Amino acid sequence: MKGYKNIDTAVIHGGISVDETTGAVNVPIYQTSTYKQDGLGKMRGYEYSRTGNPTREALEKLIAELERGYAGFAFGSGMAAITAVLSLLHSGDRVLISTNVYGGTFRLLDKVFDHFGISYTIADTEHPQNYEKQITADVKAVIIESPANPLMTVTDIKTISDISHRHGLLVIVDNTFMTPYLQRPLELGADIVVHSATKYLGGHSDVVAGLAVVSTKELADKIAFIQNSTGGVLGPFDSFLLIRGIKTLAVRMDRHVENAVKAAEYLVSHKAVKSVYYPGLETDKGYEINSRQAKNGGVMISFELHENYDINVFFESLELVSLAESLGGAESLVCHPSTMTHASIPADIRKKVGITDGLIRLSVGIENSEDIIADLEQAIEKAERR
Ligand SMILES: *Cc1c(COP(=O)(O)O)cnc(C)c1O
Repeated sequence: MKGYKNIDTAVIHGGISVDETTGAVNVPIYQTSTYKQDGLGKMRGYEYSRTGNPTREALEKLIAELERGYAGFAFGSGMAAITAVLSLLHSGDRVLISTNVYGGTFRLLDKVFDHFGISYTIADTEHPQNYEKQITADVKAVIIESPANPLMTVTDIKTISDISHRHGLLVIVDNTFMTPYLQRPLELGADIVVHSATKYLGGHSDVVAGLAVVSTKELADKIAFIQNSTGGVLGPFDSFLLIRGIKTLAVRMDRHVENAVKAAEYLVSHKAVKSVYYPGLETDKGYEINSRQAKNGGVMISFELHENYDINVFFESLELVSLAESLGGAESLVCHPSTMTHASIPADIRKKVGITDGLIRLSVGIENSEDIIADLEQAIEKAERR
């Protein structure tokens, strides 16, 4: 036993938290590509750093423990992690994807995996009855995001996992937006969790990384083989940065969420705001299901201003909050999904799923919430057309 049972302790002590040889309380950065062998076939556990590296391994054990999975794998980006997982599929297979799936995941399937005869269908994972009808004989996997941005659509992970398993599908959940501190999909029945660790897990907007966690030895053996064969591994220094970031995950997320709730309540009550999407609000359509499967509504909020507000002026008037892609850092960021994060989704599909040109996505940082809200307030005021 490790002497703890709570996840906010596990983020600090999970995986390999002490260096065996020196007692260093941080796992060293093993900045090496290869390892001396004591004789033919006599290795000390490592042979080449694409295959295995002690710093990366400490991170991989940590994320596996946090997600309560069998094994974890670290990659050079979230997309590299998703690519490795989708490499489990074969030509002729089809993948179902949640309606508001990350733009990069959509592009990967639409423009890269289609070369290899793997197709996709945008699936209504929000409505289980509709979803089940979309499972045709060639469907072998489903990718779920919950909440899925930018409309923060909530999928019932347990129900969709149960339906999917009845049809023999592999259930993959992109848990980037929630992190294992707020939601653990493997406990809800998923087979694989993927992360853009670039976001909340890293937490400081200073590293690009991806993680995958699998539920069984069989999947672990397959992903280990794919990781070593395709080679998109995370380097030792970036692995160290992620371990360092994850140590403060619980305290950061608590503050992020506290600020997000305040920002969402502010936006809901503002006369300039037409709609707010945030599953942490009781009035949100995803609130009930999200509350059942996650600790709270997370950090990401989307909203629309009424037509008599100019969103260009809004973006240009922000002083504290930066207009930028990405999310999950200490600093508050806004983005314009239709021209930024979701630009790779064709306009007709964007329109169909409700990603309007007036939609604004807010990643609430861990600054003082008063300052964040004051900045939104002054920018909204300037954006009003008079
Ligand atoms: C950012 C993001 C990704 C892609 O991760 P990268 O680290 O940028 O490659 C995948 N899924 C979600 C939900 C993301 O936000």
